[in-house]
Amino acid sequence: MAAITMKNIVKKYGDGFPAVNDVSIDVQDGEFMILVGPSGCGKSTLLRMIVGLEDITDGDMVIGERKVNDLAPRDRNLAMVFQNYALYPHLSVYENIAFPLRLAGASDSEVDEKVRAASKTLELDEHLERKPGNLSGGQRQRVAMGRAIVRDADAFLFDEPLSNLDAKLRGQMRTEIARLQKRLGITTVYVTHDQTEAMTLGDRVAVLKRGVLQQLASPRELYTNP
Ligand code: ADP
Ligand code: ADP
Repeated sequence: MAAITMKNIVKKYGDGFPAVNDVSIDVQDGEFMILVGPSGCGKSTLLRMIVGLEDITDGDMVIGERKVNDLAPRDRNLAMVFQNYALYPHLSVYENIAFPLRLAGASDSEVDEKVRAASKTLELDEHLERKPGNLSGGQRQRVAMGRAIVRDADAFLFDEPLSNLDAKLRGQMRTEIARLQKRLGITTVYVTHDQTEAMTLGDRVAVLKRGVLQQLASPRELYTNP
């Protein structure tokens, strides 16, 4: 059973050309799936439909065995990691990671246990009292992932998380995300327009063009059969 199944997904904004046109992709459990293509090809729209921030015009979105077409984002148990990381500047790293647990009414001991476990995995345990403003870009990214981990989300969704970084940091973060994803073994869907990211990060790459799925293959297959 796939972790995320997109079945003949269509998205129309108004009467125009569909932004997403009959796209079917199955993301396997633990898989790192890349959605790549030029600006305007529909990749963010597709990601937003997975997370529930955008209605589906036609088709089915299935997470695990559950059809989620009409489910609100908070009922989908997914974790979106945003480009700007959406951290709270006035809260410590600890409280930033704890935030979703506090929201859900977890006890102090449960919060503490989960925050400490996540920050250990992410090598943030020495920075728990710091504020996001004093962290490097890479550390901030890890705090954002920590917040996703403590929610026991079924999948991570990334929307161009590295596009605002300079080339050097982008290279470092790429390595870091790939490493973390494998260590956590969590199903991941990652949107980018960057060919290098697509070819180095993913287990499989879904290539979109004008809303249509052109190819769905491993980077190796795409190299040998572009
Ligand atoms: P990408 O993420 O690949 O750059 P998008 O998914 O953002 O592409 O956009 C796909 C198409 O849908 C584009 O033609 C874009 O102009 C259009 N689009 C995206 N969001 C909206 C919206 N809220 N209203 C109308 N059209 C939109
Ligand atoms: P509020 O209910 O005050 O708007 P939030 O928007 O922070 O609070 O969160 C509402 C619900 O949305 C949370 O319980 C959680 O399940 C979900 N949620 C929060 N952040 C994310 C995220 N990054 N990705 C996916 N779902 C999220």
